[in-house]
Amino acid sequence: MTKLRLAIVGAGPAGIYAADILLKAERGFDVSIDLFEQLPAPYGLVRYGVAPDHPRIKGIISALREVVDRGDIRLFGNVQFGTDITLDDLKKHYNAVIFATGAIRDADLDIPGVDLDGSYGAAEFVSWFDGHPDVPRTWPLEAESVAVIGNGNVALDVSRMLAKHADDLLPTEIPANVYDILKSSPVTDVHIFGRRGPAQVKFTPLELRELGELNDVDMIVYEEDFDYDDASKAAIASNKQVMVIDRVLQQWRQREVGAASRRLHLHFYAKPLEIVDDGTGHVSAIRYERTAPDGEGGVRGTGEIREIPIRALYRAVGYFGSPLDNIPYDEKHGVIPNREGQVLHKTDNTRMYGVYATGWIKRGPVGLIGHTKSDAMETIKHVINDQGNWWTPVDPSEESIVTLLRERGVEYTNLDGWHNLDSHELALGAAEGRTRIKVVPRDEMVKISNRS
Ligand SMILES: Cc1cc2nc3c(=O)[nH]c(=O)nc-3n(C[C@H](O)[C@H](O)[C@H](O)COP(=O)(O)OP(=O)(O)OC[C@H]3O[C@@H](n4cnc5c(N)ncnc54)[C@H](O)[C@@H]3O)c2cc1C
Repeated sequence: MTKLRLAIVGAGPAGIYAADILLKAERGFDVSIDLFEQLPAPYGLVRYGVAPDHPRIKGIISALREVVDRGDIRLFGNVQFGTDITLDDLKKHYNAVIFATGAIRDADLDIPGVDLDGSYGAAEFVSWFDGHPDVPRTWPLEAESVAVIGNGNVALDVSRMLAKHADDLLPTEIPANVYDILKSSPVTDVHIFGRRGPAQVKFTPLELRELGELNDVDMIVYEEDFDYDDASKAAIASNKQVMVIDRVLQQWRQREVGAASRRLHLHFYAKPLEIVDDGTGHVSAIRYERTAPDGEGGVRGTGEIREIPIRALYRAVGYFGSPLDNIPYDEKHGVIPNREGQVLHKTDNTRMYGVYATGWIKRGPVGLIGHTKSDAMETIKHVINDQGNWWTPVDPSEESIVTLLRERGVEYTNLDGWHNLDSHELALGAAEGRTRIKVVPRDEMVKISNRS
Protein backbone atom coordinates (compact mmCIF):
# COMPACT_ATOMS: atom_id res chain seq x y z
CA MET A 1 0.00 0.00 0.00
CA THR A 2 1.21 3.55 -0.73
CA LYS A 3 2.58 5.32 2.31
CA LEU A 4 2.34 9.05 2.99
CA ARG A 5 5.42 10.26 4.84
CA LEU A 6 4.16 13.52 6.29
CA ALA A 7 6.13 16.23 8.09
CA ILE A 8 4.21 18.62 10.31
CA VAL A 9 6.07 21.72 11.49
CA GLY A 10 4.75 23.09 14.79
CA ALA A 11 3.49 20.99 17.70
CA GLY A 12 0.79 23.41 18.88
CA PRO A 13 -2.86 22.40 18.85
CA ALA A 14 -3.14 22.92 15.07
CA GLY A 15 -0.28 20.54 14.26
CA ILE A 16 -1.36 17.90 16.76
CA TYR A 17 -5.03 17.99 15.68
CA ALA A 18 -3.97 17.73 12.03
CA ALA A 19 -1.94 14.59 12.79
CA ASP A 20 -4.79 13.08 14.78
CA ILE A 21 -7.41 13.80 12.11
CA LEU A 22 -5.28 12.32 9.34
CA LEU A 23 -4.50 9.18 11.32
CA LYS A 24 -8.21 8.63 12.01
CA ALA A 25 -9.42 9.55 8.51
CA GLU A 26 -10.70 7.11 5.93
CA ARG A 27 -7.99 6.88 3.29
CA GLY A 28 -6.53 4.42 0.84
CA PHE A 29 -2.91 4.73 2.00
CA ASP A 30 -0.73 4.26 5.08
CA VAL A 31 0.55 7.23 7.00
CA SER A 32 3.71 7.94 8.95
CA ILE A 33 3.96 11.36 10.61
CA ASP A 34 6.93 13.28 12.03
CA LEU A 35 6.10 16.34 14.09
CA PHE A 36 8.85 18.99 14.29
CA GLU A 37 8.78 21.59 17.05
CA GLN A 38 11.31 24.36 17.63
CA LEU A 39 10.86 24.20 21.41
CA PRO A 40 11.88 21.23 23.56
CA ALA A 41 8.25 21.00 24.78
CA PRO A 42 5.12 20.59 22.64
CA TYR A 43 1.66 22.29 22.81
CA GLY A 44 2.52 25.77 21.48
CA LEU A 45 0.47 28.61 22.91
CA VAL A 46 -1.50 26.28 25.16
CA ARG A 47 1.71 25.96 27.17
CA TYR A 48 3.23 29.36 26.32
CA GLY A 49 0.24 31.66 25.72
CA VAL A 50 -2.80 30.61 27.76
CA ALA A 51 -2.50 32.31 31.15
CA PRO A 52 -1.29 30.15 34.06
CA ASP A 53 -4.39 30.97 36.13
CA HIS A 54 -6.62 29.37 33.46
CA PRO A 55 -6.10 25.72 34.46
CA ARG A 56 -9.25 24.57 32.65
CA ILE A 57 -7.86 25.76 29.30
CA LYS A 58 -4.35 24.56 30.14
CA GLY A 59 -6.10 21.21 30.71
CA ILE A 60 -6.59 20.94 26.93
CA ILE A 61 -3.00 19.74 27.06
CA SER A 62 -4.35 16.42 28.42
CA ALA A 63 -6.34 15.88 25.21
CA LEU A 64 -3.34 16.83 23.04
CA ARG A 65 -1.14 14.60 25.15
CA GLU A 66 -3.42 11.62 24.54
CA VAL A 67 -2.86 12.09 20.82
CA VAL A 68 0.94 12.26 20.95
CA ASP A 69 1.12 9.47 23.56
CA ARG A 70 -0.75 7.05 21.33
CA GLY A 71 2.61 6.27 19.75
CA ASP A 72 1.80 6.68 16.06
CA ILE A 73 3.36 10.16 15.70
CA ARG A 74 7.09 10.80 16.13
CA LEU A 75 7.97 14.05 17.91
CA PHE A 76 11.21 15.88 17.14
CA GLY A 77 11.50 18.72 19.66
CA ASN A 78 14.14 21.45 19.67
CA VAL A 79 14.23 21.34 15.86
CA GLN A 80 13.61 24.59 14.04
CA PHE A 81 12.43 24.69 10.46
CA GLY A 82 14.66 27.16 8.61
CA THR A 83 17.70 26.51 10.81
CA ASP A 84 17.93 22.82 11.60
CA ILE A 85 15.89 21.53 8.67
CA THR A 86 14.97 23.16 5.36
CA LEU A 87 12.31 22.77 2.72
CA ASP A 88 14.83 20.92 0.53
CA ASP A 89 15.46 18.43 3.36
CA LEU A 90 11.75 17.81 3.72
CA LYS A 91 11.35 17.27 -0.02
CA LYS A 92 14.09 14.61 0.12
CA HIS A 93 12.48 12.66 2.95
CA TYR A 94 8.72 13.30 2.91
CA ASN A 95 5.78 13.33 0.52
CA ALA A 96 4.28 16.50 1.96
CA VAL A 97 4.54 19.05 4.76
CA ILE A 98 1.94 20.90 6.82
CA PHE A 99 3.03 24.16 8.43
CA ALA A 100 1.31 24.75 11.78
CA THR A 101 3.70 27.37 13.09
CA GLY A 102 1.11 29.68 14.63
CA ALA A 103 1.70 33.34 15.41
CA ILE A 104 4.01 34.19 18.25
CA ARG A 105 4.92 37.86 17.97
CA ASP A 106 3.09 41.13 18.48
CA ALA A 107 1.31 42.94 15.68
CA ASP A 108 2.68 46.46 15.17
CA LEU A 109 1.02 49.50 16.71
CA ASP A 110 1.89 52.55 14.70
CA ILE A 111 1.84 55.46 17.14
CA PRO A 112 4.66 57.77 18.27
CA GLY A 113 6.57 56.60 21.33
CA VAL A 114 6.02 52.91 20.72
CA ASP A 115 9.77 52.24 21.04
CA LEU A 116 10.26 54.09 24.33
CA ASP A 117 11.64 52.26 27.36
CA GLY A 118 8.71 50.90 29.31
CA SER A 119 6.65 50.15 26.17
CA TYR A 120 6.21 46.39 25.72
CA GLY A 121 4.45 43.98 23.42
CA ALA A 122 1.90 41.74 25.12
CA ALA A 123 3.40 38.65 23.46
CA GLU A 124 6.77 39.28 25.13
CA PHE A 125 5.16 39.65 28.55
CA VAL A 126 2.95 36.58 28.04
CA SER A 127 6.03 34.57 27.01
CA TRP A 128 7.81 35.77 30.13
CA PHE A 129 5.08 34.89 32.63
CA ASP A 130 4.43 31.57 30.89
CA GLY A 131 8.13 30.62 31.13
CA HIS A 132 9.06 30.64 27.42
CA PRO A 133 12.73 29.63 27.09
CA ASP A 134 13.60 32.28 24.49
CA VAL A 135 12.72 35.45 26.43
CA PRO A 136 14.83 37.07 29.18
CA ARG A 137 14.08 35.73 32.66
CA THR A 138 13.78 39.12 34.26
CA TRP A 139 11.04 41.64 33.72
CA PRO A 140 11.07 45.28 34.86
CA LEU A 141 7.85 45.49 36.88
CA GLU A 142 8.65 48.86 38.41
CA ALA A 143 5.63 50.97 37.51
CA GLU A 144 2.77 51.90 39.82
CA SER A 145 0.57 53.03 36.96
CA VAL A 146 0.42 50.94 33.78
CA ALA A 147 -1.54 51.11 30.52
CA VAL A 148 -2.72 48.18 28.44
CA ILE A 149 -3.89 48.95 24.90
CA GLY A 150 -6.44 46.53 23.44
CA ASN A 151 -9.94 45.23 23.99
CA GLY A 152 -9.49 41.49 23.40
CA ASN A 153 -8.85 38.56 25.71
CA VAL A 154 -5.06 38.92 25.54
CA ALA A 155 -5.43 42.48 26.90
CA LEU A 156 -7.47 41.03 29.75
CA ASP A 157 -4.89 38.28 30.43
CA VAL A 158 -2.08 40.84 30.55
CA SER A 159 -4.07 43.24 32.76
CA ARG A 160 -5.12 40.47 35.12
CA MET A 161 -1.57 39.18 35.46
CA LEU A 162 -0.37 42.72 36.18
CA ALA A 163 -3.07 43.49 38.74
CA LYS A 164 -3.39 40.15 40.49
CA HIS A 165 -1.50 39.65 43.74
CA ALA A 166 1.38 37.22 43.24
CA ASP A 167 0.24 35.01 46.12
CA ASP A 168 -3.05 34.42 44.31
CA LEU A 169 -0.99 32.95 41.45
CA LEU A 170 1.00 30.60 43.63
CA PRO A 171 -1.25 27.57 43.06
CA THR A 172 -0.58 27.87 39.30
CA GLU A 173 2.42 26.65 37.31
CA ILE A 174 4.18 30.05 37.17
CA PRO A 175 7.96 29.72 37.31
CA ALA A 176 9.62 30.75 40.59
CA ASN A 177 11.30 33.86 39.15
CA VAL A 178 7.95 35.05 37.75
CA TYR A 179 6.38 34.75 41.20
CA ASP A 180 9.28 36.66 42.82
CA ILE A 181 9.09 39.53 40.34
CA LEU A 182 5.28 39.77 40.46
CA LYS A 183 5.49 39.71 44.26
CA SER A 184 7.69 42.81 44.29
CA SER A 185 5.61 44.72 41.74
CA PRO A 186 4.59 48.18 43.05
CA VAL A 187 1.59 48.34 40.68
CA THR A 188 -1.54 50.06 41.95
CA ASP A 189 -3.40 51.04 38.77
CA VAL A 190 -3.81 49.25 35.45
CA HIS A 191 -5.63 51.24 32.75
CA ILE A 192 -7.12 49.31 29.82
CA PHE A 193 -7.80 51.37 26.67
CA GLY A 194 -10.15 50.53 23.81
CA ARG A 195 -11.07 52.70 20.85
CA ARG A 196 -14.67 51.63 20.78
CA GLY A 197 -17.53 51.26 23.25
CA PRO A 198 -18.58 48.50 25.65
CA ALA A 199 -20.91 46.98 23.03
CA GLN A 200 -18.04 46.55 20.54
CA VAL A 201 -15.33 44.90 22.63
CA LYS A 202 -13.74 41.61 21.62
CA PHE A 203 -13.50 40.23 25.19
CA THR A 204 -15.48 37.13 25.97
CA PRO A 205 -17.88 37.44 28.94
CA LEU A 206 -16.21 34.79 31.09
CA GLU A 207 -12.81 36.47 30.89
CA LEU A 208 -14.30 39.89 31.61
CA ARG A 209 -16.32 38.67 34.59
CA GLU A 210 -13.18 37.08 36.03
CA LEU A 211 -11.59 40.52 36.48
CA GLY A 212 -14.34 41.48 38.88
CA GLU A 213 -13.54 38.46 41.06
CA LEU A 214 -9.89 39.32 41.70
CA ASN A 215 -8.88 39.58 45.31
CA ASP A 216 -8.18 43.16 46.50
CA VAL A 217 -8.64 44.69 43.03
CA ASP A 218 -11.39 47.25 42.34
CA MET A 219 -12.95 47.47 38.89
CA ILE A 220 -13.28 51.09 37.81
CA VAL A 221 -15.66 51.96 34.98
CA TYR A 222 -16.55 55.51 33.90
CA GLU A 223 -20.11 56.85 33.68
CA GLU A 224 -19.39 58.75 30.44
CA ASP A 225 -18.91 55.43 28.60
CA PHE A 226 -22.47 54.23 29.17
CA ASP A 227 -24.40 56.73 27.11
CA TYR A 228 -25.19 54.10 24.46
CA ASP A 229 -26.17 55.07 20.90
CA ASP A 230 -28.82 53.12 18.93
CA ALA A 231 -26.23 50.83 17.30
CA SER A 232 -24.85 49.85 20.72
CA LYS A 233 -28.36 49.27 22.09
CA ALA A 234 -29.15 47.10 19.08
CA ALA A 235 -25.93 45.11 19.54
CA ILE A 236 -26.78 44.49 23.20
CA ALA A 237 -30.34 43.44 22.37
CA SER A 238 -29.39 41.12 19.53
CA ASN A 239 -26.20 39.40 20.67
CA LYS A 240 -26.18 37.26 23.82
CA GLN A 241 -22.44 37.65 24.33
CA VAL A 242 -22.65 41.46 24.17
CA MET A 243 -25.68 41.36 26.47
CA VAL A 244 -23.72 39.45 29.14
CA ILE A 245 -20.74 41.79 28.78
CA ASP A 246 -23.06 44.76 29.29
CA ARG A 247 -24.63 43.08 32.32
CA VAL A 248 -21.21 42.55 33.91
CA LEU A 249 -20.25 46.18 33.29
CA GLN A 250 -23.58 47.44 34.65
CA GLN A 251 -22.94 45.50 37.87
CA TRP A 252 -19.54 47.13 38.20
CA ARG A 253 -21.15 50.57 37.76
CA GLN A 254 -23.14 49.91 40.93
CA ARG A 255 -20.26 48.57 43.01
CA GLU A 256 -18.68 50.40 45.92
CA VAL A 257 -15.00 50.96 45.22
CA GLY A 258 -12.13 52.38 47.21
CA ALA A 259 -11.20 49.63 49.62
CA ALA A 260 -8.84 47.65 47.38
CA SER A 261 -5.10 48.31 47.12
CA ARG A 262 -5.13 47.85 43.33
CA ARG A 263 -7.45 49.10 40.60
CA LEU A 264 -8.27 48.02 37.06
CA HIS A 265 -9.69 50.90 35.01
CA LEU A 266 -11.66 50.28 31.82
CA HIS A 267 -11.45 53.27 29.45
CA PHE A 268 -13.75 52.90 26.47
CA TYR A 269 -14.00 55.34 23.54
CA ALA A 270 -10.30 56.07 24.01
CA LYS A 271 -8.06 56.03 20.93
CA PRO A 272 -4.34 56.01 21.84
CA LEU A 273 -2.48 58.73 19.94
CA GLU A 274 0.96 58.82 21.48
CA ILE A 275 3.10 57.34 24.20
CA VAL A 276 4.69 60.34 25.87
CA ASP A 277 8.45 60.53 26.53
CA ASP A 278 9.58 61.75 29.97
CA GLY A 279 12.61 63.43 28.34
CA THR A 280 14.96 60.51 29.05
CA GLY A 281 13.47 58.06 26.54
CA HIS A 282 11.10 56.44 29.05
CA VAL A 283 7.31 56.26 29.00
CA SER A 284 5.66 58.95 31.14
CA ALA A 285 2.04 59.12 29.92
CA ILE A 286 -0.43 57.91 27.36
CA ARG A 287 -2.13 60.55 25.23
CA TYR A 288 -5.43 59.56 23.70
CA GLU A 289 -8.39 61.01 21.88
CA ARG A 290 -11.88 60.59 23.20
CA THR A 291 -14.01 58.98 20.47
CA ALA A 292 -17.78 58.83 20.08
CA PRO A 293 -20.15 56.36 18.39
CA ASP A 294 -20.61 57.10 14.68
CA GLY A 295 -24.13 55.65 14.60
CA GLU A 296 -23.09 52.65 12.52
CA GLY A 297 -21.38 50.54 15.15
CA GLY A 298 -18.03 52.30 14.71
CA VAL A 299 -16.49 55.41 16.26
CA ARG A 300 -15.23 58.82 15.17
CA GLY A 301 -12.71 61.13 16.82
CA THR A 302 -14.09 64.00 18.90
CA GLY A 303 -10.89 66.10 18.94
CA GLU A 304 -10.83 65.98 22.76
CA ILE A 305 -7.31 64.98 23.77
CA ARG A 306 -6.58 63.51 27.20
CA GLU A 307 -3.51 62.23 28.99
CA ILE A 308 -2.99 59.77 31.85
CA PRO A 309 0.40 59.45 33.57
CA ILE A 310 1.83 55.91 33.38
CA ARG A 311 5.32 54.43 33.64
CA ALA A 312 4.78 51.28 31.57
CA LEU A 313 2.61 50.33 28.64
CA TYR A 314 1.62 46.99 27.10
CA ARG A 315 0.38 46.73 23.50
CA ALA A 316 -2.17 43.92 23.24
CA VAL A 317 -3.32 44.69 19.71
CA GLY A 318 -2.99 41.19 18.27
CA TYR A 319 -0.47 38.51 17.42
CA PHE A 320 1.22 38.15 14.02
CA GLY A 321 2.63 35.20 12.10
CA SER A 322 6.29 35.06 11.06
CA PRO A 323 7.71 34.21 7.62
CA LEU A 324 9.32 30.81 7.03
CA ASP A 325 12.30 30.17 4.74
CA ASN A 326 11.28 29.52 1.12
CA ILE A 327 7.58 29.44 1.99
CA PRO A 328 5.24 32.13 0.59
CA TYR A 329 4.26 34.78 3.12
CA ASP A 330 1.58 37.44 3.13
CA GLU A 331 3.20 40.42 4.92
CA LYS A 332 -0.07 42.27 5.29
CA HIS A 333 -1.86 39.57 7.25
CA GLY A 334 1.11 37.61 8.63
CA VAL A 335 -0.09 34.31 7.17
CA ILE A 336 0.96 31.76 4.54
CA PRO A 337 -1.19 32.44 1.44
CA ASN A 338 -3.46 29.44 1.00
CA ARG A 339 -6.75 28.14 -0.28
CA GLU A 340 -8.41 26.01 2.39
CA GLY A 341 -4.94 25.08 3.67
CA GLN A 342 -3.37 24.41 0.25
CA VAL A 343 -0.40 26.77 0.05
CA LEU A 344 -0.33 29.14 -2.93
CA HIS A 345 2.59 30.84 -4.68
CA LYS A 346 2.40 34.53 -3.93
CA THR A 347 3.13 35.72 -7.42
CA ASP A 348 0.32 34.00 -9.31
CA ASN A 349 -1.84 32.25 -6.69
CA THR A 350 -1.03 28.82 -8.16
CA ARG A 351 -0.62 25.77 -5.93
CA MET A 352 2.68 25.01 -4.23
CA TYR A 353 2.21 21.27 -4.36
CA GLY A 354 3.08 19.19 -1.32
CA VAL A 355 2.85 22.21 1.02
CA TYR A 356 -0.09 22.86 3.35
CA ALA A 357 -0.91 25.14 6.27
CA THR A 358 -3.19 24.94 9.27
CA GLY A 359 -4.01 26.87 12.47
CA TRP A 360 -3.09 30.49 13.11
CA ILE A 361 -0.45 30.62 10.34
CA LYS A 362 -3.20 29.60 7.91
CA ARG A 363 -6.05 31.89 8.90
CA GLY A 364 -4.48 34.51 11.15
CA PRO A 365 -4.29 34.84 14.93
CA VAL A 366 -7.97 34.80 15.79
CA GLY A 367 -10.10 32.13 17.35
CA LEU A 368 -9.88 29.65 20.14
CA ILE A 369 -8.03 26.36 20.40
CA GLY A 370 -11.17 24.50 19.31
CA HIS A 371 -11.17 26.35 15.99
CA THR A 372 -7.82 24.83 15.06
CA LYS A 373 -9.59 21.46 14.89
CA SER A 374 -12.05 22.46 12.16
CA ASP A 375 -9.17 24.18 10.43
CA ALA A 376 -7.14 21.00 10.46
CA MET A 377 -10.08 18.99 9.06
CA GLU A 378 -10.24 21.26 6.04
CA THR A 379 -6.48 21.04 5.41
CA ILE A 380 -6.36 17.25 5.86
CA LYS A 381 -9.21 16.77 3.38
CA HIS A 382 -6.94 18.32 0.74
CA VAL A 383 -3.86 16.36 1.80
CA ILE A 384 -5.86 13.16 1.23
CA ASN A 385 -7.44 14.23 -2.06
CA ASP A 386 -4.10 15.45 -3.43
CA GLN A 387 -2.47 12.02 -3.42
CA GLY A 388 -1.42 12.32 -7.08
CA ASN A 389 0.33 15.63 -6.41
CA TRP A 390 2.53 14.77 -3.43
CA TRP A 391 6.31 15.04 -3.66
CA THR A 392 8.40 12.01 -4.60
CA PRO A 393 11.19 11.90 -2.00
CA VAL A 394 14.56 10.28 -2.74
CA ASP A 395 14.80 8.69 0.70
CA PRO A 396 11.49 8.42 2.55
CA SER A 397 12.80 5.97 5.17
CA GLU A 398 12.03 6.85 8.79
CA GLU A 399 15.72 6.55 9.73
CA SER A 400 16.85 9.10 7.16
CA ILE A 401 15.70 12.17 9.10
CA VAL A 402 17.23 10.86 12.32
CA THR A 403 20.56 10.39 10.51
CA LEU A 404 20.33 13.90 9.04
CA LEU A 405 19.64 15.57 12.41
CA ARG A 406 22.47 13.60 14.04
CA GLU A 407 24.90 14.47 11.25
CA ARG A 408 24.05 18.13 11.75
CA GLY A 409 24.56 17.86 15.49
CA VAL A 410 20.98 18.92 16.26
CA GLU A 411 20.22 18.13 19.88
CA TYR A 412 16.66 17.02 19.24
CA THR A 413 14.30 15.69 21.87
CA ASN A 414 11.63 13.04 21.37
CA LEU A 415 8.42 11.86 22.99
CA ASP A 416 10.23 9.94 25.74
CA GLY A 417 12.22 13.10 26.36
CA TRP A 418 9.05 15.12 26.73
CA HIS A 419 7.76 12.53 29.24
CA ASN A 420 11.00 12.97 31.22
CA LEU A 421 10.61 16.73 31.27
CA ASP A 422 6.91 16.57 32.06
CA SER A 423 7.46 14.20 35.01
CA HIS A 424 10.33 16.35 36.24
CA GLU A 425 8.16 19.50 36.22
CA LEU A 426 5.29 17.70 37.96
CA ALA A 427 7.70 16.45 40.65
CA LEU A 428 9.10 19.96 41.16
CA GLY A 429 5.53 21.18 41.64
CA ALA A 430 4.53 18.33 43.97
CA ALA A 431 7.48 19.10 46.25
CA GLU A 432 5.95 22.55 46.85
CA GLY A 433 2.29 21.53 46.85
CA ARG A 434 1.74 22.93 43.34
CA THR A 435 0.60 21.15 40.18
CA ARG A 436 3.73 21.90 38.15
CA ILE A 437 6.74 24.16 38.11
CA LYS A 438 8.02 24.80 34.60
CA VAL A 439 11.65 24.41 33.68
CA VAL A 440 12.55 27.52 31.69
CA PRO A 441 16.12 27.54 30.28
CA ARG A 442 16.25 25.72 26.95
CA ASP A 443 19.52 23.86 27.66
CA GLU A 444 18.12 22.60 30.96
CA MET A 445 14.91 21.48 29.23
CA VAL A 446 16.96 19.57 26.64
CA LYS A 447 19.26 18.06 29.28
CA ILE A 448 16.36 16.79 31.40
CA SER A 449 14.54 15.49 28.30
CA ASN A 450 17.54 13.60 27.00
CA ARG A 451 18.79 12.01 30.18
CA SER A 452 18.30 8.27 30.19
C1 LIG B 1 -2.05 35.07 25.27
C2 LIG B 1 -3.00 34.08 24.65
C3 LIG B 1 -3.98 33.50 25.43
C4 LIG B 1 -4.87 32.58 24.85
N1 LIG B 1 -5.83 32.04 25.64
C5 LIG B 1 -6.71 31.17 25.09
C6 LIG B 1 -7.72 30.59 25.88
O1 LIG B 1 -7.85 30.89 27.08
N2 LIG B 1 -8.58 29.71 25.29
C7 LIG B 1 -8.46 29.35 23.96
O2 LIG B 1 -9.22 28.50 23.45
N3 LIG B 1 -7.51 29.89 23.18
C8 LIG B 1 -6.63 30.78 23.71
N4 LIG B 1 -5.68 31.35 22.93
C9 LIG B 1 -5.64 30.98 21.49
C10 LIG B 1 -4.88 29.67 21.23
O3 LIG B 1 -3.64 29.70 21.92
C11 LIG B 1 -4.67 29.50 19.72
O4 LIG B 1 -5.96 29.38 19.12
C12 LIG B 1 -3.87 28.27 19.34
O5 LIG B 1 -2.75 28.08 20.16
C13 LIG B 1 -3.39 28.35 17.89
O6 LIG B 1 -2.78 27.12 17.60
P1 LIG B 1 -1.62 26.93 16.53
O7 LIG B 1 -1.22 25.50 16.67
O8 LIG B 1 -2.03 27.45 15.22
O9 LIG B 1 -0.41 27.88 17.01
P2 LIG B 1 0.56 27.78 18.27
O10 LIG B 1 -0.18 27.36 19.47
O11 LIG B 1 1.31 29.06 18.29
O12 LIG B 1 1.60 26.60 17.88
C14 LIG B 1 2.58 26.79 16.89
C15 LIG B 1 3.80 25.95 17.23
O13 LIG B 1 4.71 26.01 16.14
C16 LIG B 1 6.03 26.14 16.64
N5 LIG B 1 6.87 26.75 15.61
C17 LIG B 1 6.79 28.02 15.14
N6 LIG B 1 7.75 28.23 14.21
C18 LIG B 1 8.43 27.08 14.07
C19 LIG B 1 9.55 26.68 13.28
N7 LIG B 1 10.15 27.52 12.41
N8 LIG B 1 10.03 25.41 13.40
C20 LIG B 1 9.45 24.53 14.29
N9 LIG B 1 8.38 24.87 15.08
C21 LIG B 1 7.89 26.12 14.97
C22 LIG B 1 5.86 27.04 17.86
O14 LIG B 1 6.96 26.92 18.76
C23 LIG B 1 4.56 26.47 18.45
O15 LIG B 1 4.80 25.43 19.37
C24 LIG B 1 -4.77 32.24 23.47
C25 LIG B 1 -3.76 32.83 22.70
C26 LIG B 1 -2.89 33.73 23.28
C27 LIG B 1 -1.84 34.36 22.42
